[in-house]
Amino acid sequence: MTEQANTPQAASEDRPMKPAMWRGFRRRCPNCGEGSLLESYLKVRDHCPVCGQALHHHRADDGPAYLTILVVGHLMAPLLHIAFVQYRPDPLVMATIFAVGCVGLSLYLLPRLKGLVVGIQWARRMHGFGAAP
Ligand SMILES: [Zn+2]
Repeated sequence: MTEQANTPQAASEDRPMKPAMWRGFRRRCPNCGEGSLLESYLKVRDHCPVCGQALHHHRADDGPAYLTILVVGHLMAPLLHIAFVQYRPDPLVMATIFAVGCVGLSLYLLPRLKGLVVGIQWARRMHGFGAAP
């Protein structure tokens, strides 16, 4: 709470939201777009290895998991219906294909959506991202 240092200097620095979100989705630092954001599958680095931006302020929490479920569910549920109505595959074949598809898409999206959430938090100066480094 006390570290929300919205000094005139920090507040005047422009942080556009869309580039930060796109850099985060590419798992890059939202500040420079060069350094990698994650040091393992989902662990966010403390600092960007290229520009030194502090990244430990992020509070992504359950946001990326929620967004992953939202996207995967809204893609896979209609596909499940279309595949069943159009092709009537063997239930075991269909269950196998959709289980692999859901898990694969979730594993693909989860770190990218985490980067996106960190990018939003950085651009909006949330949770200490607005404080001087
Ligand atoms: Zn950086």
